[in-house]
Amino acid sequence: MSHSHHAEPHFIQRTGWLRASVLGANDGIISVTSLVMGMAASGANSHTLMIACLAGLISGATSMAAGEYVSVQSQKDIEHADLKFEAKLLEQHPHLELEELTTIYIHRGLTPELAKEVAIQLTEKNALEAHARDEIGIIEQTAARPIQAALSSALSFSLGALCPMLAILFSPEQLVSKIVLIVGIISLSLMGALSSYFAGTSLWKGSLRITVWGILAMAFSSWIGSLFDVNPM
Ligand SMILES: [Zn+2]
Repeated sequence: MSHSHHAEPHFIQRTGWLRASVLGANDGIISVTSLVMGMAASGANSHTLMIACLAGLISGATSMAAGEYVSVQSQKDIEHADLKFEAKLLEQHPHLELEELTTIYIHRGLTPELAKEVAIQLTEKNALEAHARDEIGIIEQTAARPIQAALSSALSFSLGALCPMLAILFSPEQLVSKIVLIVGIISLSLMGALSSYFAGTSLWKGSLRITVWGILAMAFSSWIGSLFDVNPM
């Protein structure tokens, strides 16, 4: 389906995979930073923190991919079943389907005569496409792509998890938990602002919202970790 006549950019068109990627990266930052903070609070050294970070990255990325694949694939199955059923109806009851399409256009505000004419012309052009779009609400741009969705959420989670990993790698041992915390807060506020930018909403509000939730997660995780001292002196 060509949208070349559509010159002005719309927010809804870029909120698809970009929004999913930013959310995946937020997940990666929050969950892996919290994991590392919890381990650090229990007294784990940098080497152990690095292992925890890597394990968190791998488990998080694979579970994001699996969850996203299953969710998008089932959406796709529903779309397929709907289209198959619609194609069957079009074959068996073309007149009823034409009436149905006409009624849809009347409800959208066309006069009965014009609605009928539009329905006839669109049916001649591509009846299934017209019913998919105007009756079911499936357009090619929203058609689900499960593999792409799975890979992009795994990748974006991993990129998010790289923030605490790099912080551990380049921090001196005694400062590691503080630097991981600071890197976590800065990266979350940047990602929050970025997701607001893509959604076309207030940068500050989006940034603050995700950062506050991230800090809560890290604080909770640190508190739990502090209950388990792995190096009692
Ligand atoms: Zn129909």
